Amino acid sequence: MKSVPVKVVAENAPGAGAAPQKLNLLGLDRAGLEGFFAELGEKPFRASQILKWVHHRGVTDFDAMTDLSKALRTKLKDMAEVRVPEPVLDQTSSDGTRKWLLQLDGSNAIEAVLIPEKSRETLCISSQVGCALECSFCSTGYQGFNRNLSTAEIIGQLWYVTRMLEQEGTGRQVTNVVFMGMGEPLLNFKNVVPASELMKDDHAYGLSKRRVTLSTSGVIPYLDRLTEVSDISLAVSLHAPNDALRDELVPINKKYPIAELLAACQRYIADKPHRSITWEYVMLDGVNDTDEHARQLARLLKGIPSKVNLIPFNPFPEAPYERSSDERIRAFSNILSNAGLVSTTRKTRGDDIDGACGQLVGKVADRTRRQQKRAQRAQAGTA
Ligand code: SAH
Ligand code: SF4
Repeated sequence: MKSVPVKVVAENAPGAGAAPQKLNLLGLDRAGLEGFFAELGEKPFRASQILKWVHHRGVTDFDAMTDLSKALRTKLKDMAEVRVPEPVLDQTSSDGTRKWLLQLDGSNAIEAVLIPEKSRETLCISSQVGCALECSFCSTGYQGFNRNLSTAEIIGQLWYVTRMLEQEGTGRQVTNVVFMGMGEPLLNFKNVVPASELMKDDHAYGLSKRRVTLSTSGVIPYLDRLTEVSDISLAVSLHAPNDALRDELVPINKKYPIAELLAACQRYIADKPHRSITWEYVMLDGVNDTDEHARQLARLLKGIPSKVNLIPFNPFPEAPYERSSDERIRAFSNILSNAGLVSTTRKTRGDDIDGACGQLVGKVADRTRRQQKRAQRAQAGTA
C-alpha cells in the first residue's frame, strides 16, 4: 500500500467550517445554471459556457473564462465562486485501486475510490456523510450519520479525480461512476439527481446513462420519483431472497418489503427499452448463501430483466459475519446461471486500503450517537 498525505486542512480553515457566503457554481447543473443566469438577465447559453470551463476544462477562476464579458466576470466574482474539494489523503492499493479522502468541513470527510479495470475506470462516489440506515453488514452503517452531501460535494468527487488523472497525463479517464460509496443516495434525492445530470451533460462529463449507476437499498417513494426524472442505471441492494432474512440484513425492508420493491424496480425500467436491474447480493457465510437461498432468489427474479452481482463480504472489525468461501459463491452462482439469470461475482478490490464496498468510512461526526447506543445495548445485554 502506498499512502500519500496530500494536505492537511485545518479544522477551522476558511471555507471549510464557516458557512460560505457565495453561491458555488460547481453544484449547479444545466437547469440550475440557466435559472441563475436568467436572474442575471443573461442568455441560457451562458450555462454551457460555465459547464465547459468548470467541468470540462477544470477552470475555477472566473478571470480565466475568456469568452465571458469582463462585466459578467466581475459580477460572477462578486456573487459566486467555484469551490472544489480539498484532498487530505491519497492511497493506492497493490491492485491499483486508488482511494482519496476529501475534506468537507471541519469535522467531516468522505472517501471516493477509483477502480481500474481492463477497459474502464470506475469511480465509486459517496452521497452522504455516513448513512442513516443500519444494514448489519455495512461499515458505513456502523459509522452513523452526519449529513447529506451538497450537489457540489457529490460532483466535486468526479471533478477532483478527473483533474488528478489529467495532471498525471497517462491518458486514463473516469469512464463509469457508481453511487456505491458512503450513504444512501435516494435519501439525498434533491442533490444526487442534479449531480447525475452533470455527469451525463455533454458539456460537463458526457457519460452515457449506462455508465452512471445509482445503488440503493430500496427507498420506494424516492425510487418512484427517480422513475419520473431520470434514466441512469439502477443497482439494488437485495442481499436476501425473502423478507424475514432481508428484515435482518437491510432493516429498511421492514418499511419497504421485497414484493413492493420489485414492483417499483419494474416501474423504473418499464419505459426504458433494453434496460435491466442489477441486484447486489453480499455473500455472507451461512447466512444468505445456501443452495436454497439461490433457488429462492432465482424464483423471485423470474421475469424481471436482471443481472445479479454477487459481492464477497468485505469484513470490518465490528461485523458479525464471515465471507462465503469461493467454492460456495461458485455453487450459488451456478444455480442462478442454470435458472437463466446472468450472474457475476465482484472481484474484491482495494482490500489493503479498505477501499472495497462497504468499507468506506471517511470521517463521520456522527449525529445519531449510533456507536454509543450500540455499546449501551451491548452492556445492558451482558448485565
Ligand atoms: N446505500 C446504497 C449504496 C452504498 S453501499 C446501497 O445500500 O445500495 C454500496 C454497496 O455495497 C451495496 O450493495 C451494499 O450493500 C454493499 N456493501 C455494504 N457493506 C458491504 C460489505 N461489508 N461487504 C460487501 N458489500 C457491502
Ligand atoms: Fe447505508 Fe447502503 Fe450501508 Fe445500508 S448498505 S447502511 S443503505 S450505505
